[in-house]
Amino acid sequence: MAYKKTEHYDEHVTLGLATNYKNSLSLLGEDAEREGLLKTPERVAKAMQYLTQGYQMDAKLILESAKFHEEVSEMVIVKDIELYSMCEHHMLPFFGKAHIAYIPNGWITGLSKIARVVDVYSRRLQVQERLTTQILEAIKESLNPMGVAVVIEAQHLCMMMRGVQKQNSVTTTSAFSGEFQKEATRAEFMKLISGRFN
Ligand SMILES: [Zn+2]
Repeated sequence: MAYKKTEHYDEHVTLGLATNYKNSLSLLGEDAEREGLLKTPERVAKAMQYLTQGYQMDAKLILESAKFHEEVSEMVIVKDIELYSMCEHHMLPFFGKAHIAYIPNGWITGLSKIARVVDVYSRRLQVQERLTTQILEAIKESLNPMGVAVVIEAQHLCMMMRGVQKQNSVTTTSAFSGEFQKEATRAEFMKLISGRFN
């Protein structure tokens, strides 16, 4: 059978959310009964469940599903991982890139699993600072590496569309553990993700 992508939404949750979004549309001054908006509450209900699916995912389970014993102690870097999340203060998107590195201590994981950990924590209501440390902690606990480094660069629509309207500002957050707390190791990582290598 050919590949078929299916998405499952909880009917009870979808109905509850849709009812609330229909009410929100009216409160915002819209006519929720006009043609273009008829299916919008249900679409938003499903979109929001999709964007918050990280609550149902377990980062450590994902990392450990492809955990292999390997005697390497060179820095493993996955950079430019696309990231889409939503700020928990305004429920508006923030998006950008994550750069992650770890130094194995006998165990490695699939590179795609590192990228999936970003999804686990970004598909929730978040603040960029917590997202950064949650990714670090999950890798640290699952692989027990010599060190982990996480850098996230993101633009926040709540800053760009409202409030201070700083349209080009990029927020950078970082978290380092173990070997990456040493100046030289951290500098090597920062150099490798800065793009001078490609
Ligand atoms: Zn915000």
